[in-house]
Amino acid sequence: MTFEEMDLIEPLKRALKQEGYEHPTPIQVGAIPLLLKGGDLLGLAQTGTGKTAAFALPILQKLASGGRAMPYAPRALVLTPTRELAVQIAQSFAKYGRHLKMKVAMVFGGVGQEPQARALSRGVDILVATPGRLLDLMSQRLVKLGSVEIFTLDEADRMLDMGFITDIERIVETLPAKRQSLLFSATMPNEAKHLAASLLNDPATVAVNPVSSAADRIEQKLMFVGRDKKDDLLKSLLDDQTIYRMLVFTRTKHRANRLAEKLNKLRIPADSIHGNKSQSARQRALSGFISGRTRVLVATDIAARGIDISGISHVVNFELPNEPESYIHRIGRTARAGAEGIAISFCDMDEHDYLHAIERIIKAPITVDETQPFHCAATASARRVAGRKGPSGGYGGKPRYSQRFGSSNRGGGYARSGERSGGERSGGQRSGGERSGGGGYAGRSNNRTGRSWN
Ligand code: AMP
Repeated sequence: MTFEEMDLIEPLKRALKQEGYEHPTPIQVGAIPLLLKGGDLLGLAQTGTGKTAAFALPILQKLASGGRAMPYAPRALVLTPTRELAVQIAQSFAKYGRHLKMKVAMVFGGVGQEPQARALSRGVDILVATPGRLLDLMSQRLVKLGSVEIFTLDEADRMLDMGFITDIERIVETLPAKRQSLLFSATMPNEAKHLAASLLNDPATVAVNPVSSAADRIEQKLMFVGRDKKDDLLKSLLDDQTIYRMLVFTRTKHRANRLAEKLNKLRIPADSIHGNKSQSARQRALSGFISGRTRVLVATDIAARGIDISGISHVVNFELPNEPESYIHRIGRTARAGAEGIAISFCDMDEHDYLHAIERIIKAPITVDETQPFHCAATASARRVAGRKGPSGGYGGKPRYSQRFGSSNRGGGYARSGERSGGERSGGQRSGGERSGGGGYAGRSNNRTGRSWN
């Protein structure tokens, strides 16, 4: 399948060609035709799967078919949890819509509202917003949602994690009842299911690359190390000068700051990105990293969610995440858009529980690198081998992956009705065979996960 063969209008096809996109990703194959027909959609996909274009292209096409931008009253609303994601989504609309005269505006907190209000006053077709600032502007009557034809809730699971549920409910109350609604989420905890049920009307489900399957081309390594040796281990990894863009994760903002400072003292250009930084400081950190001025970006989970920077060859979990699903999101920052990547996790004596939880959700032990110079045998021997616990414990079955993820079971990332691991995610909201994404593409795309579409 190519974009040429899809029912997209010429200005969009032209923009896609200019972007160098030829083949739609699985989520795009599943979602775009459905959305063009006007149906509601539940998209189970994480960033990196091409989900932004999956919703941006049909939204642009539908808005281009009639109507015009009005001040303060967008025709499409995209809600997203973080400022960085809002910026990236708005940029995607601008990219794909470059041959259409569409006005895209953004609203998010952490910066003055004046420029945002001014942009809204000039007319807006598509508004990309984080919930808090949107509600602020709505209360000042600087945004009115009565004209919204298409509503997209992006990263619903993360929104819920971040405590946005009441904000979302307040926003949704003001939307017209007659609208098209889309909800994207990497995972479907119960709360997200309830939200989907209340937002979506007879939705089709398109699921790719469920969160419990790690990205296809990411090589994962585990390094057992004493806590006091983690700095040295990181430094030794960075001795490899071919690593020019490394994303490092810590659990706390404070640790992120301290680690970036330490690296700078070692003359390794580093910066940190986390929720305590102002919007402009975060943007500065990101652009330094993108431009190559900064070699190492140290991030906390929420700040890094949705960062879409190509060429991150290495992700290092300096500290393991306490929420196992964050592991998948973290390592997904590498191997973007077809590239390969390496994810290295440091594990000290106090992190065995985190490691255990991660290995349970990825359903495989991560390969240990014992050759690294700071390998700690005592920590390694304390590892809990989950796979040997019998039917109720363990990884929940045969490991899906060998050392290099995906080599033993490629294609597991696609979901056809009833085929997903953890079948509870696929039931319920699916509206019927012919509209569900699985039938459309799963059969043909039998040798890759959602990430590898080249
Ligand atoms: P997303 O999942 O929306 O964050 O997209 C991940 C990355 O894939 C972004 O850098 C997109 O620009 C890129 N991308 C999206 N769709 C395609 C496609 N069909 N072909 C190539 N790259 C794509």
